Amino acid sequence: MENILDGKKLAEQMKASLKDKIAKLPYSIRLAVVMVEGNSASQIYVDNKIKACKALGIECNLYTFSATTDENEVANILQNLAEDRKVHGILLQLPLPKHMNKDKLLKLIPAEKDVDGFSGENIGELCLKGLRGNAFIPCTPLGILELLRSNQIEISGKNVVVVGRSNIVGKPMAMLLLTEGATVTICHKLTKNLAQFTRQADILIVAVGKRNLIDADMVKEGVVIVDVGINRMEDGKICGDVHFESVQKKAKAITPVPGGVGPMTIAMLLYNTYQAAKQQEERV
Ligand code: NAD
Repeated sequence: MENILDGKKLAEQMKASLKDKIAKLPYSIRLAVVMVEGNSASQIYVDNKIKACKALGIECNLYTFSATTDENEVANILQNLAEDRKVHGILLQLPLPKHMNKDKLLKLIPAEKDVDGFSGENIGELCLKGLRGNAFIPCTPLGILELLRSNQIEISGKNVVVVGRSNIVGKPMAMLLLTEGATVTICHKLTKNLAQFTRQADILIVAVGKRNLIDADMVKEGVVIVDVGINRMEDGKICGDVHFESVQKKAKAITPVPGGVGPMTIAMLLYNTYQAAKQQEERV
């Protein structure tokens, strides 16, 4: 369909181009993935990331801990990986069990290996300079920006509403759009009368995790919709936060779920890992 923002297709193109570049490198790229069990979705996400790395020729080492592991054990492996010169990127899969201090563990990943872009240093650089800085930008916001740009969707001067304020999607997304010249409004679970804001959006980005949160009545004609949400339906299939069928009729462009933001997120993780390896290996 004409107004679909096809993340799957763009991600495939980006991965093919990255694969060619990686094949020409005189060194191998290595990503370490650290996962603590206890979240059923995490295993699926991690499997997908590992599969994608392998397909591109990126070596991937998985370190899995049981849900009751002591935090110090995870800290030890992160410290070792931080010092290991053969490891270019480190990914700590979130969420972690409640007894672990996420912020403390994330701080053990050096900014130059933080391919998820979650560290304070990378987020700070993103806020200051956006795409023009040296930051690793969180994969989902970076993927969304790439999807909009490759579909010639103007951002500068537009009213963009971001629903969701998490550190991994909503907040970095809003900062990135701001540095690209958008007028950004951030809504969240305490926002009163959400529709009053979403109806103003030229571009509406929804990252909440609630099926059918946004319906056709909440958007204006000609809006561009980016649906980040992943929700599992009764039949096991996944859907986003936006009521796709009704909203698509009003939208100028819309991302499907699946096949929109998800594949772009993975493509950007691979891109960030490639960049991390290049920076570390080609440093003079
Ligand atoms: P999160 O739970 O950390 O944040 C959810 C946000 O939604 C919060 O800021 C909260 O204030 C807001 N919120 C909750 N209820 C709301 C309401 N009724 N109205 C407005 N705002 C509300 O989640 P997250 O990690 O940011 O992820 C959000 C969704 O995106 C999830 O479904 C997640 O699975 C999905 N996700 C998808 C990808 C992808 O690659 N496609 C990547 C990351 C996250």
